[in-house]
Amino acid sequence: ASRGDVSRRQHAHRRVLVFPLPFQGHINPMLQLADVLHGRGLAVTVLHTQFNALDPALHPEFTFVAVPDGVPADVAASGSIIPIILAMNAAMEASPAVRDVLASVLADDGQPPAACLFIDANLLAVQKAASALGLPTMVLRTGSAACFSCFLAYPMLHHNGYLPPKESQLYTPVKELPPLRVRDLFRTSTSDHKMVRKVLARASETVRNSFGLVVNTFDALETAELDRIRRELDVAFVLAAGPLHKLSSRSTGSSLLREDRSCMEWLDKQVPGSVLYVSFGSLASMDGGELSEIAWGLANSGQPFLWVVRRDLVRGSDGPGLPEGFDRAVEGRGKVIPWAPQQEVLAHFAVGGFWTHNGWNSTLESISEGLPMICMPHFADQMMNTRYVEAVWGVGFELEGKPERNKIAKAIQKLMNEREGEVAREKARELKKKVVSCLKSGGSSLLAIDKLVEHISSL
Ligand code: UDP
Repeated sequence: ASRGDVSRRQHAHRRVLVFPLPFQGHINPMLQLADVLHGRGLAVTVLHTQFNALDPALHPEFTFVAVPDGVPADVAASGSIIPIILAMNAAMEASPAVRDVLASVLADDGQPPAACLFIDANLLAVQKAASALGLPTMVLRTGSAACFSCFLAYPMLHHNGYLPPKESQLYTPVKELPPLRVRDLFRTSTSDHKMVRKVLARASETVRNSFGLVVNTFDALETAELDRIRRELDVAFVLAAGPLHKLSSRSTGSSLLREDRSCMEWLDKQVPGSVLYVSFGSLASMDGGELSEIAWGLANSGQPFLWVVRRDLVRGSDGPGLPEGFDRAVEGRGKVIPWAPQQEVLAHFAVGGFWTHNGWNSTLESISEGLPMICMPHFADQMMNTRYVEAVWGVGFELEGKPERNKIAKAIQKLMNEREGEVAREKARELKKKVVSCLKSGGSSLLAIDKLVEHISSL
């Protein structure tokens, strides 16, 4: 029997529970981790909220259990992640519902016994409910190691005067967290700074209260940042087990929106490496003027492109209108879709660059395919991811300031056809080799999964 078969038999009598935060960038890596653990012979139960509920039909191999989340309808409708996290936790802490659901899942003797619960760091209420039942938790961090290191450093950043950020200090280096500058730190607008601080403190507490931490990154990408976390945390393990989408056997199945697959046929007909893929993730939004500048920037660049325009991309409108004359201007050269099978798109031979908002998943997916990036961060950890792309890995550059059509067309030319883009592409190809080697037998991420499975089995 192969090593895999033996390992599967050994673990077949255990089960892991997973509970993702109900946002696309958090759901994807959690279900990928679940898939990897399932591949090692562990049974998986997915707990999920009613808000952004998951579709069990897409994962017949897992058991699904819905948990009442108590997010008020108006907060849910705002789509605003920080208030939703706080409201969800407050409701879960105020009611015995999560604990009751967990207790009944644990008592289900038709299933192998549960070893532990994997949670998102933003679900402190769930960590507390699990702890009350004696169920160990482990945290999956869906952002970078640098980002979590910034969470841990947040009180210090306040104490040392970097936060709240002052307009005049945005380019001041944060000497405690190189190469970050004040503008790169995790933040939203100054007005809700207290809320951000609370959410980050709770995320750190969730990790500190847990048995161990898995980060969706890989050792060679964030060596120093992982070391910093390991020095600061007193948990059983901090493992870098990413990029999880490359370890997971299935890339689709966790999309909240329907993927428009017509783009794959369209890509098949394009020249290798010629297409710029443009997407700003699942949450970022803009005003109509910005959308119009982006549209004309793409049109004026002369470059083939595939652009994801979500129905809610433009604030306050349902179904953004593209500017008059745009369709004609880009006919045969550009394609606009509401949602893409992104990982497949990035792996397609026709795609040669990615204009991204630098959500961590998108950043890691781009790195995994050796693609250089134009970075247009919006909020949260996106500025810091951009900083690493530009200043540490050298695999892209930032498009600073408000989007403006001439600036955009120039940036696209630079990335796709000029020397600076070629240098970034070369570095991206080198980085991709490191991804390949961390995923090989004996590679750091595969070893991390081995260790994780051992920890789970020891519980
Ligand atoms: N994604 C996708 N189709 C799209 C755009 C995004 O499947 O058209 C996926 C993408 O592959 C990534 C996730 O949605 O896994 C977005 O996560 P990310 O961390 O990049 O950004 P967020 O949406 O959290 O801002």
